Amino acid sequence: MPDVQTVQGAVDVGELGLVLVHEHVRFRDEAVADQWPGRYDEQLELDAALDAVGAAKDRGVQTIVDPTAMFGGRDVNFMKRVADASGVRIVACTGIYSYDHLPHYFENRDVDVMADHFVEDIENGIQGTGIRAAFLKCAADAPGVTEHVEKIHRAVARASVQTGAPIMAHSMPAVGTGPRQVEIFEQEGVDLARVQIAHCGDTDDVEYIERLIDKGVYVGLDRYGLEMYLPIDTRNATAAELLRRGHAERLMISQDFCATIDWFPPEAAEVFESDGAIRNWSMTLVFDEVVPALREQGVMDDAAFQTIFVENPRRWLAG
Ligand SMILES: [Zn+2]
Repeated sequence: MPDVQTVQGAVDVGELGLVLVHEHVRFRDEAVADQWPGRYDEQLELDAALDAVGAAKDRGVQTIVDPTAMFGGRDVNFMKRVADASGVRIVACTGIYSYDHLPHYFENRDVDVMADHFVEDIENGIQGTGIRAAFLKCAADAPGVTEHVEKIHRAVARASVQTGAPIMAHSMPAVGTGPRQVEIFEQEGVDLARVQIAHCGDTDDVEYIERLIDKGVYVGLDRYGLEMYLPIDTRNATAAELLRRGHAERLMISQDFCATIDWFPPEAAEVFESDGAIRNWSMTLVFDEVVPALREQGVMDDAAFQTIFVENPRRWLAG
């Protein structure tokens, strides 16, 4: 069986086991973290990451796919410390997480030069390490697929075609970015069976999600706990309907949990909880509440569980 790159080196895809396909062991605004490192407590961040990953491990998780790219403070040495200390594998990516902004560096260079940076991470290693990226990441959000966002998508697509690495694309169903993102990948000749459109679970529009699935991509129901976008019961109803329609082989279920995130001051977490904007957001919510609810509705048996948490990530990562 083919290998998959993890922060601890290549492993046989059969060894990945139970996978959480979209979680962040740390998320931060890298420019701020780079310029004012004294504002961050790395030990506290590491402890939080180990708490979150350890809890997932207790539920049987053996591998975490962490799509933290440029602008999310990607740091493969930090990821490796978490993997080494927890005994859970972490799969890292390359790419750019931007809703529009592009550094002048990339603005004034063409798509192929950008793609070449991604290829370097996939073939040689990231940030001067031998740790290689296993997949590519890009994003489209409220501004839609802007010129810069399209450039990143095309660069990601070309790096995928060149290396065979799969793609995860952050999307925003509220402004319907998914179809255009898939269209760009299609134009660039990407194998759509290796594309994952993340955050589709932020809508309950089953037809919208099904139109994406019909293109052959995976869809992420991957923000469980982020009630501000959609409450858990609605997310579960959407998941149940997609399962009833026979789409288990195209679903990815995860939480997009960030063990720490610097976007908000520390006291904001409590406010989000009390406002109901987040609820039980963690790396275990899908095992504690989602899978039991779907089992109770009779739409998730052991086979569907295995398909979603073991086989889909495996097929997406390794083809
Ligand atoms: Zn994410």
